[in-house]
Amino acid sequence: MLDKRQFYIDGTWTDPLAGQDLEVIDPSTEDAFAVISLGAEADTDLAVAAASAALPGWMYTDPADRLALVTRILECYGARAEDMAKAISQEMGAPIDLATSSQAAAGYSHIKNFIKAFEHVRFIEPLGDHAPDDRILREAVGVCALITPWNWPMNQVTLKVIPALLAGCTMVLKPSEIAPVSSMIFAEILHEAGTPPGVFNLVNGDGAGVGTQLSRHPEVDMVSFTGSTRAGIAISKNAAESLKRVHLELGGKGANIIFADADDKAVRRGAMHCFQNTGQSCNAPTRMLVQREIYDQSVDAAVAAAEATQVGLASEKGRHIGPLVSAAQFEKVQGLIETGINEGARLAAGGLGRPEGFNRGYFVRPTVFADVHNDMTIAREEIFGPVLSIIPFETEDEAIRIANDTPYGLTNYVQSQDGARRNRLARKLRSGMVEMNGKSRGAGSPFGGMKQSGNGREGGVWGIEDFLEVKSVSGWDGSAA
Ligand code: NAD
Repeated sequence: MLDKRQFYIDGTWTDPLAGQDLEVIDPSTEDAFAVISLGAEADTDLAVAAASAALPGWMYTDPADRLALVTRILECYGARAEDMAKAISQEMGAPIDLATSSQAAAGYSHIKNFIKAFEHVRFIEPLGDHAPDDRILREAVGVCALITPWNWPMNQVTLKVIPALLAGCTMVLKPSEIAPVSSMIFAEILHEAGTPPGVFNLVNGDGAGVGTQLSRHPEVDMVSFTGSTRAGIAISKNAAESLKRVHLELGGKGANIIFADADDKAVRRGAMHCFQNTGQSCNAPTRMLVQREIYDQSVDAAVAAAEATQVGLASEKGRHIGPLVSAAQFEKVQGLIETGINEGARLAAGGLGRPEGFNRGYFVRPTVFADVHNDMTIAREEIFGPVLSIIPFETEDEAIRIANDTPYGLTNYVQSQDGARRNRLARKLRSGMVEMNGKSRGAGSPFGGMKQSGNGREGGVWGIEDFLEVKSVSGWDGSAA
């Protein structure tokens, strides 16, 4: 059993002041493989104090020095890629090939993309010719609390820590208590790269403890959170007392609108995307809206994709999907499949219980529901499991209405050969992102949602600007340094 009880505070690994043990479970075996501490208020205070003390020194550094640090972090991250992939695979159940090629790799490419985007951040610029002595300065928001989930651990950690560092913020990271080991490796990487003491701190804990303490802490200037809408609401309320800036990246219930003129791989691609990472992605296309003319054949194609999706241990190589992350997620997904059946959706593939051959591990069956109405629970709630809901539609207007009839607004998807129609839909869909014809968004594009999917954007220049304040100055002496 790995002993991971320490926290990283002020540049050193530190024993908890008042920690309580929590076992980290391998979801493929249900066995504990590590033990961490859930921090108490005294630990949170110590980490915030270290970040506060480091702020004046870090926020006024030359941006080039911050860029140099992040460049070293990229090198160290590359050298630890294998350790990182193994840790992610074991803590949250992504099969090792997915953990290597997507989960750990996402962290590497985010760091690289931020280095590129940094060129475009203007820390000082003139207001305009009409006001020659004015300057617009951009400076760090201050001490940030970064609270992350378990589903794409390094994707989410790097999308917060790296732009915060580049902006000149200092920070306390509280990774998910369910998948904390990868973040502890990340802290080792930051240490090895020479991050000054206090600039980056890590305290493990749960939402009720360290998460809430950070959200309320008077010395924290900003909370950046990714996770459930429930926790996002709690954090916003707790942060309101001290009027912190709150950045939220929450759940989704993306529609994938498949028109009759879609390419012939659209349904299979959409189903596989829904099942990827065992359905545990906020941007998963979980509502497949299919035009009536191709509805029956599309249901058949989705069923074939579900039946072809293999389920297996996270430690095994291959293109299978792994288990869900935890017993709680397993129960939640089983409950929602049952609700789908009870509310009258047609179970076309998968269903309740573990797949054949498994009597341990949080494995579930890739599941397809057909004839779903958009007001059914399975079409409204984020399931966070490999469960696809297929909804028929007749016209473009109806498809747009169904797609937008959700509290969420993260990613929607469109499949059609008609370019003018794609452009119309891109404008009318109420979501932070629209991906069409299977083309993923380019490197450095902003990630984030509308409505109850959150606010703010992560990635690229937008992701760095989220950690910056805008300061408007008059009487600037342009001839002085
Ligand atoms: P969660 O939102 O409870 O946890 C995410 C992070 O927030 C963890 O670090 C957790 O400790 C922390 N947290 C929880 N409650 C908090 C609070 N009140 N104050 C401060 N921090 C808090 O997510 P979960 O319990 O791991 O999963 C529950 C559901 O959330 C999932 O079924 C899924 O629908 C959704 N989810 C969404 C995403 C996403 O990327 N949008 C990620 C993870 C989970």
